Amino acid sequence: MDKDNEAVNSTDSEAANERAKGIRKVLIQERQIILKEAKTEIGNFVKGDEKQLVEAALDDGDWSVVDVNEDIILQKLHHHKLKLNKIDEALRKLNEGSYGICDDCGIEISDARLKVLPFAVHCVECKEKREKIEQVEKEQSFQ
Ligand SMILES: [Zn+2]
Repeated sequence: MDKDNEAVNSTDSEAANERAKGIRKVLIQERQIILKEAKTEIGNFVKGDEKQLVEAALDDGDWSVVDVNEDIILQKLHHHKLKLNKIDEALRKLNEGSYGICDDCGIEISDARLKVLPFAVHCVECKEKREKIEQVEKEQSFQ
């Protein structure tokens, strides 16, 4: 009896490991795509030595070099940066074993949502709540 349970448990954790491996692969691929896009955009604004410097920094995840550059680059890259932050957060959670758990309310994020957004760290309800708050903050900052 005990042996049977052990077998079931180890199969479960193997399946979970396989799942985590697959998710990690998707996240890392996504990360590379975004970095590539970001570099292409930077290439439109920065040339020569400075471009190499910025690209090397992006590889290291150091976005401070972008912050000190022209505002227009920052604006263009802002959404890439946000997405990369989310992917890094998801990878961190994957390593911690808390992947797929909503950061705000602690419930499991649905598989359907994770399939579309593998780097989601909030469930749909919490995401909508956050968006509403962000919207209000945006409106207030314009006043
Ligand atoms: Zn939630």
